[in-house]
Amino acid sequence: MTQMLKKKASELDHDFRYEISEKVGAKSLLKCIQCGVCSSGCTVTEYVDLQPHRVVASCLLGLKEEVLTSNAIWTCSLCHRCTERCPKNVDYSFILALLRNMAVKEGKIPKEYSTTVVTLYHNGFVVPYTGGLKDNIDRRRNRMGLPQIVPPKLEEIQFIIEETGLGGLAKEEEDEK
Ligand code: SF4
Ligand code: SF4
Repeated sequence: MTQMLKKKASELDHDFRYEISEKVGAKSLLKCIQCGVCSSGCTVTEYVDLQPHRVVASCLLGLKEEVLTSNAIWTCSLCHRCTERCPKNVDYSFILALLRNMAVKEGKIPKEYSTTVVTLYHNGFVVPYTGGLKDNIDRRRNRMGLPQIVPPKLEEIQFIIEETGLGGLAKEEEDEK
C-alpha cells in the first residue's frame, strides 16, 4: 500500500540526497530517472508503504523522516532484482542497506529487529537456546542424527555487536525492565 507524501519546501531536508550519495557506493542514487522499473520487479512491492522508485524519489526530494520511518527499508528482502534491472545502474538494494544503517543510528529501528539484536547479544542465538526450548531442539536433532549444537563464544558476539554500535540496544532493553 502506498501513501501520499505532502510537505512544504521549507520542511524538506535538502542535504539528505548528499548525505546518502557521499557514502561509498551510493553515488548512483543521483542518476535515477524515475522510470519505475525497480518497483515493477520488486518481490515485496505489494507489502511496502513506499515502492522502490518512490523511496529513491523521496531521498532525492529530502523526505528524510518519511524514508527512515518507512517500512520499505525493512521489508526489502535484498534480492537485488531492482539493482540488476535498473537502466541507470542505481544500486538501490545497496542504498537501502545504507538507509537501514542511518535509521538505526537515529534510533528508528523496528521493535522486532531490535529485539532480535538484544536476544543475540544475551544468548548468542537469535532464538534462545536454553531451558525447555534447548531440550526440544536437542531431542529433535538427536532423532534426525544431527550433531550437537556448539554454542558460540558469547563475548565475541557481544564484542561485534558493541563494535557495530548496536550494544546500546541491549542496555536500553535492560533499562526498560
Ligand atoms: S529502476 Fe533505477 S532509474 Fe528507474 S526508478 Fe528505479 S532506481 Fe530509478
Ligand atoms: S532488493 Fe529489495 S527493493 Fe530491490 S527488488 Fe529485492 S526486495 Fe525489492
